[in-house]
Amino acid sequence: MVQGTLEKLAEIRRGDLSAVENVSSLLEKIKKLDRKINSFIEINPNALTEAEAVDRKIKKGERAGKLAGLAIGIKSNINVAGLRATCASRTLQDYVSPYDAEVIRRIRGEDGIIIGMNNMDEFACGSSGESSAFGPTDNPAAPGHIPGGSSSGSAAAIAAGLCDICLGSDTGGSIRNPASHCGIVGLKPTYGLVPRQGLIDLGMSLDQIGPLSADVSGTVVMLETIAGRSDNECIMLNVDKVSYSEKLQNDDLKGLRVGVSEKFAELTDPAIIKVIDRGIEKLRELGAEIVAIDLPNLERGLYAYYLIVSVEFFSGTRKFDGRKYGKKIEEVCGEEVLRRIMRGRYISQKEYRGKFYQRALQVRTLIKRELMAAFEKVDVIAGPTVPKLPHRIGSKLTPMEMYAYDYLTVPANLAGICAGVIKAGEISGIPVGLQIQGRVLGELEVLKVMKALEATE
Ligand code: GLN
Repeated sequence: MVQGTLEKLAEIRRGDLSAVENVSSLLEKIKKLDRKINSFIEINPNALTEAEAVDRKIKKGERAGKLAGLAIGIKSNINVAGLRATCASRTLQDYVSPYDAEVIRRIRGEDGIIIGMNNMDEFACGSSGESSAFGPTDNPAAPGHIPGGSSSGSAAAIAAGLCDICLGSDTGGSIRNPASHCGIVGLKPTYGLVPRQGLIDLGMSLDQIGPLSADVSGTVVMLETIAGRSDNECIMLNVDKVSYSEKLQNDDLKGLRVGVSEKFAELTDPAIIKVIDRGIEKLRELGAEIVAIDLPNLERGLYAYYLIVSVEFFSGTRKFDGRKYGKKIEEVCGEEVLRRIMRGRYISQKEYRGKFYQRALQVRTLIKRELMAAFEKVDVIAGPTVPKLPHRIGSKLTPMEMYAYDYLTVPANLAGICAGVIKAGEISGIPVGLQIQGRVLGELEVLKVMKALEATE
C-alpha cells in the first residue's frame, strides 16, 4: 500500500518532507496522468505559494494544523475563492467563486492546501461521471470503466494518487458510489454535521459534504476538520467539534452489533453479494455479532428520492436564469439536468393535489422509521454500496438504468443518517465497496468498523 495519511502528516511535521515537496510532486503527477483520467477541472495556481507558507510555519516551530501540508482536491460544486465552481456545467463554466465555503475556511485553518477543483457529474446529477461538460472521468482502478458519480473526479484523483484527500458531496450516494467503484474510502456524514454553506445545492434536504481518501485515517482527519456547528447556518445539529482519532485505537469489534438485511441480496448482483458476504464474515471474526434486520420498503426509497431531488433541484436552479450567474441553465445544460428541471417543474405544478411530492415525503418517513427501528437492534448496518458493477464509459443506459445504481445509497440520505464505504474485494479487478451505515451521529461506530476491516488487509 502507498504511504498512509498519518505517516505523511508526521513526515511533514518533522520536516522530512516539505509541504512544497508534497504538493509539487503531486502537481507533476497530475500533469503526467490526468490528461487521461480527467479528474481535475482546474488546478490552483497558488498551491505552491500556499505550501511555502505552511513550510515556513513548521520551520518556525509554530503550531501546524491537522492537515498541514496535505494536498486537498475539491468537488467543483464547492466554492473556493478565486477558483471556478463550475458544477461541471456550461451554465457556470466561467463562474469564479468570490468566497470560501465554510468547509474550505476550516481546511485552510488546519493548513490543508487546496490543489484544485475536481470533475463531477453536471450539478451532481448522475452516478457515472459521464455527464460532465468537461468530459467523462476514467476509473484508475478499472480503466475504461466509469469511476462512479457524481463525485467522479474526487474518487478518481484519490485512486490514482493525485492528491491526499478530497471533498465530495453526497445527496443520494455521490461520495459512496464512486468510493466503491474506485476502491477507496468515503463517508457521507450525518445530515447537519458538516456545514453546507458554499455548496451549490442539488437537493438541500439531502446534500452533505464529506471526505474521500485512500485510507480511513484520511477520512477521519478531514471529518474532524470540517464537522461541527457553524454560526452561518441555522439547520445544523448541535455539535461543536468531533474527535474520533483516540477512540479508534482498538481494532476488535467485540460487542458491536452489525445488522444485515435480506433485502440487500434481492437488489444486488450475486457476484457482489459474494464479496460483501466475505466482508461481513470478517466482521464476525473480529468479534462483531451479526444480526438479521428487516427493511421491507428499502427499494421504494429510490422512487421517493428522485421525486424529492427533482423538486428541490428545480427550485434551487431558478437562480441560474442568466441574469446573475453565467448562462441560463435550460439553454446550455445537458440532458439529465434538463430532465430533472422538467420533472421538478411538472411535479411542483401538480402538487396542489398532493399527488407526488407529498407521497414521496410519506415514503421518506417510512424509510426513516424502518431504519430507526433497525438501529434499536444494531449499532451499524453492513451491506453492498452499489447493486451492480460499473459499466464501460460511453455505454448507453436508460435514465432508469442509471438511477438503479442508487438503490442502496439513497436510504441513508432520506433518513439523514451517516454511511461510510471501504473496499471489500474485487471482481475481475473491479473494486467492490462495503457500505457501513450508522445512526444519526453514529460516525464513530462506522469508522470503527472501517478501521478494523482496513487493519485486516
Ligand atoms: N446518483 C444520484 C443522483 O443522480 C445521487 C447524486 C448525488 O448524490 N449527488 O441524484
